[in-house]
Amino acid sequence: MNSNEEKWTGSPESVPYNPGRGAFAALMAFSAVGLILAGFLFWVIPTIGLSNIHPMLPYVTGGILAAGSLVLAGGAILITIAAIKGKFLFYSPWFRGLLVKVFLPLMIMAGGILRIPRIKIEQAFIDLNNQMVKLMGRKFKPEKLLILMPHCIQFDNCKIKVTRNVRNCVGCGKCEIGELVSLSDEFGITLYISTGGTVARRKVYEERPDAVIAVACERDLTSGVQDAYPLPVLAIVNKRPRGYCMETGVAIEEVRQAIVELMPAVGA
Ligand code: SF4
Repeated sequence: MNSNEEKWTGSPESVPYNPGRGAFAALMAFSAVGLILAGFLFWVIPTIGLSNIHPMLPYVTGGILAAGSLVLAGGAILITIAAIKGKFLFYSPWFRGLLVKVFLPLMIMAGGILRIPRIKIEQAFIDLNNQMVKLMGRKFKPEKLLILMPHCIQFDNCKIKVTRNVRNCVGCGKCEIGELVSLSDEFGITLYISTGGTVARRKVYEERPDAVIAVACERDLTSGVQDAYPLPVLAIVNKRPRGYCMETGVAIEEVRQAIVELMPAVGA
């Protein structure tokens, strides 16, 4: 049993956060090969027609496609190594775009064909996304950060409405919202409890933060990171002791670390 599983306090129907690096790497390789093959076919099939226009045209098109394939393959190899080793040997900001916009949709499709559980791909994606956001090394003013929490984090029997105004929470300690309000006060960062993905997206649109710290289940985090791209999002997987969408939780220390990661060091 690894350390992630030892720490897990989730319900039987939810899955521990444990980014499956092997499966992710295999899917990445599968997607990259598929993409390059598609590029090759895209070149080979119309070659006859292209040569009728100009004899050099197949070579020019082939050169462009080969260069694109090399770039994709290079990015895929570096991201795969990072997924396996847990760190990047070399990092460029466009890797995140490549992962979010190109490889993630392909890997989810390939995972469906190969019957790899989607949650495993999402967990590995979240892990890599967070590494990439940290590697950007950008620091943000607290007023340009936004902490987004799902409504299901609230104690089920709490009668206080916190989705309009989180300050209504009286900090009784029955859920983590009180501690999150304290964190928000300590660092001067806006905290928002969202009733759903659409509301969360609208909040991001209204607040126009420079970076977001988001807590949710793997599926919501993955789609949120995709939708928010290129906005940097540090994604924290929630705890689900009672299953999905019901009195979920978050490790407050993880939220604190995410804040510290994105803010300038004290005295800097
Ligand atoms: S901590 Fe706040 S939101 Fe949670 S149960 Fe208590 S009053 Fe309600």
